[in-house]
Amino acid sequence: MDFTIGEEERALEETAARVARDLLAPRAAAHDEAASFVGDNLAELGKLGFLGLNLREEEGGAGASSLGISLVVERVAGACAATASAMTAHYLATDAIAIAGTDAQKAQWLPAAAEGRALGAFALSEPQAGSNPTDMTTRGEAVEGGWHLTGTKQWITNGGFADFLVVFARTDPAAGARGLSAFLVGRDAPGFRKGAAERTMGLKGAPVFELGFDCRLPADALLGPAGSGFKTAMAVLDRGRVEIASMALGIAGAAFEAARDWAKQRQVGGRPIADLQGLQWMLADMHAELEAARLLTWRAALARDSGHRFAREAAVAKLYASEMAGRVTDAALQIHGGYGYSRALPLERYARDARILRIFEGSSEIQRNIIARELLR
Ligand SMILES: Cc1cc2nc3c(=O)[nH]c(=O)nc-3n(C[C@H](O)[C@H](O)[C@H](O)COP(=O)(O)OP(=O)(O)OC[C@H]3O[C@@H](n4cnc5c(N)ncnc54)[C@H](O)[C@@H]3O)c2cc1C
Repeated sequence: MDFTIGEEERALEETAARVARDLLAPRAAAHDEAASFVGDNLAELGKLGFLGLNLREEEGGAGASSLGISLVVERVAGACAATASAMTAHYLATDAIAIAGTDAQKAQWLPAAAEGRALGAFALSEPQAGSNPTDMTTRGEAVEGGWHLTGTKQWITNGGFADFLVVFARTDPAAGARGLSAFLVGRDAPGFRKGAAERTMGLKGAPVFELGFDCRLPADALLGPAGSGFKTAMAVLDRGRVEIASMALGIAGAAFEAARDWAKQRQVGGRPIADLQGLQWMLADMHAELEAARLLTWRAALARDSGHRFAREAAVAKLYASEMAGRVTDAALQIHGGYGYSRALPLERYARDARILRIFEGSSEIQRNIIARELLR
């Protein structure tokens, strides 16, 4: 595989690194402390075209390669993981429209989404349906002139701030996964109810919401043919898993660098703790794991652009990188001793933010199920 980073990808990464350093990192602790939405950061990223990296130029986007997107997500997550979470949730919504939408649906939302004028949310999970979307009870019933959407979604990133939502619902109760459909719902749709933000362990600047629907929707709110919702959701999540792996690289990379710098300057018994072989080995293991996760993530990014099936590569990258981020952020906190546990430094935030990567967009257990399924096909 050729992991050469092209000129465009390098330029994207450099811009992302600059924005991450100058803009996102200085605000990250305040957003975390106040659990305030990172909308200010998204507005800046929108101006740079970063909210449309995943979209083709004819859709109003930048047409970036998956490797370029991965490099950007890594940099953004390394400075402010909540911003990366809100940005990649927006990608899920716009990917769904790009994959399944009509020309009119694309024209209505994608150029505005790419420029940061319209924020998207992807509403698949429900209080009683997470790992297995076919448990969902949200209903889309065909009625005179359109659809009646009723039900409750849970844990929806951007849900309280989104201008448009991609909402999945059961349109055929007897058809299992083939009975699910996707709908495009604007925030002004009568009958759309936004619940309070959930209180979460991390990613506090990207709050998640319970959302209620009792909405009459026009016929053209259906996204893709009736019954194609499960297929659309799985295609979107395969793509999204490469971005979650990239977030893991960013958070773990920031924690690793902090730990390496700390080890060199922190003195114990008159010597820097970096002189201790036990800590050197911890740093070496952290580095090796980060490198392995990066290669898996980049391989998944290249596979995503190949046009071939890439479910296995994406699941392997998401599984390994998210588990790696748990280990690396924990080790980095340990190397900082009591200071790592203190909220004065970002180490505890890195550990809290990394924890969700093993749960959302398919938990580690679900990734293992996908990998096994692909191996045994
Ligand atoms: C911060 C945050 C942001 C989120 N953002 C979004 C979003 O934007 N849009 C959205 O739709 N959802 C979102 N989610 C929901 C998230 O995707 C789900 O929480 C996740 O898929 C797990 O579902 P669940 O919580 O219902 O857990 P459950 O499905 O109840 O799983 C519970 C446990 O059982 C295990 N398990 C379940 N099935 C299997 C199996 N077949 N084999 C082995 N183990 C299994 C799971 O791994 C887990 O450990 C978000 C969640 C959080 C916390």
